[in-house]
Amino acid sequence: MSSAIVNRQTFDEVMVPNYSPAAFIPVSGKGSRLWDQDGNEYIDFASGIAVTSLGHLHPELTRVLHEQVDRLWHLSNTFTNEPALRLARRLTESTFAERVFFSNSGAEANEAALKLARRYAFDHFGAEKTKPEKTKIVSCKQSFHGRTLFTVSVGGQPKYTEGFAPLPGDLDHIEFNDLAAAEAAIDANTCAVIVEPVQGEGGVLPATPEYLKKLRELCDRHGALLIFDEVQIGVGRAGTLFAYMGYGVTPDILTSAKALGNGFPVGAMLTTKKVAASFVVGTHGSTYGGNPLACAVADKVIELVNTPEVLDGVKRRHDLIVEGLARINETHRAFRDVRGAGLLIGAELTGELAGKSKDFVNVGAKHGLVILVAGPNVVRFAPSLVIPEDDLQEGLERFEAVVAEVLAAQSV
Ligand SMILES: *Cc1c(COP(=O)(O)O)cnc(C)c1O
Repeated sequence: MSSAIVNRQTFDEVMVPNYSPAAFIPVSGKGSRLWDQDGNEYIDFASGIAVTSLGHLHPELTRVLHEQVDRLWHLSNTFTNEPALRLARRLTESTFAERVFFSNSGAEANEAALKLARRYAFDHFGAEKTKPEKTKIVSCKQSFHGRTLFTVSVGGQPKYTEGFAPLPGDLDHIEFNDLAAAEAAIDANTCAVIVEPVQGEGGVLPATPEYLKKLRELCDRHGALLIFDEVQIGVGRAGTLFAYMGYGVTPDILTSAKALGNGFPVGAMLTTKKVAASFVVGTHGSTYGGNPLACAVADKVIELVNTPEVLDGVKRRHDLIVEGLARINETHRAFRDVRGAGLLIGAELTGELAGKSKDFVNVGAKHGLVILVAGPNVVRFAPSLVIPEDDLQEGLERFEAVVAEVLAAQSV
């Protein structure tokens, strides 16, 4: 029997226990604020997980979604549709890419990228030309690329593949930002190298420019494709439309999702005409990929984000947060490092607080602040790119109270 009343306890009664959600349930949002079932208000420094980058209920996004809802929801890829074509046109005009494939999520965008890389090597360096085959995929330790079996195996966090063997083969994991390791691993049998320009889940770690340049050089030398997973850092969060633009290193394939739909599920794989040619009719697909509702929203998201006001605003807000955290740290000495890019910022805890990042999230809820972790030792901040500066300052004040409370509990 279903009941109208649902609460956090309902989760434990009816949901698969793979998540452990917060004790409160947000029911509405506006801009950078959320409200829960009891009317408590929160400042949102998480944006989902770097998803609602233009805030909750952005009026322009709500408008285009409503318009599309009243026109056409779905067709399947038996047809193409206007919103998908407009979005693909906009993405190709504003990036290196010449071709776009749409998915529903980041994992699916990466799944497409990895399959395409294998297929491209098969087409261009087929089995009869190279022995052993050119199928090796090189990725980084601590990286995160999604939860399908392929993407989670390519990801560099063994805890996420434990118990799921047998895993896809010919994957090589190397130390992030280690030029010598890349040099040793990438060879004639490598079909692709996949990297997050800024590791998100792995602890908010930016790649060094030299590292990405080195990967580009090694891929060119060995005929491998360079894939940038920009699912978390892309769509303005780095202060450029995509992070590769700030690094000045252009990949062969780029994946996007999270902020692309500002909360409406959508992902995209961007690539060149030459590489795209390996996905001939029938090689890959998705029922929902390129859905008109998702693409109508994403087209507006890119239009809104790709402006000097928003992108310069990211840099200004980055500085405000980093300065705020430095001020808090002068008093409380809780962090050994504050790092990141644009509005993806990680504060690494000192040794005494090791393993305690989740405490900050839990105490944050009590103080009306929504924040994230990136592993056990890093508190992660990913506010909206357009968060009003008053909200930002108030959020930092709340965060200082959170730090004080976590430290007080620590010293008892
Ligand atoms: C979140 C994330 C993914 C997975 O995206 P989903 O939409 O959850 O499938 C992949 N790569 C990176 C870098 C991410 O942050």
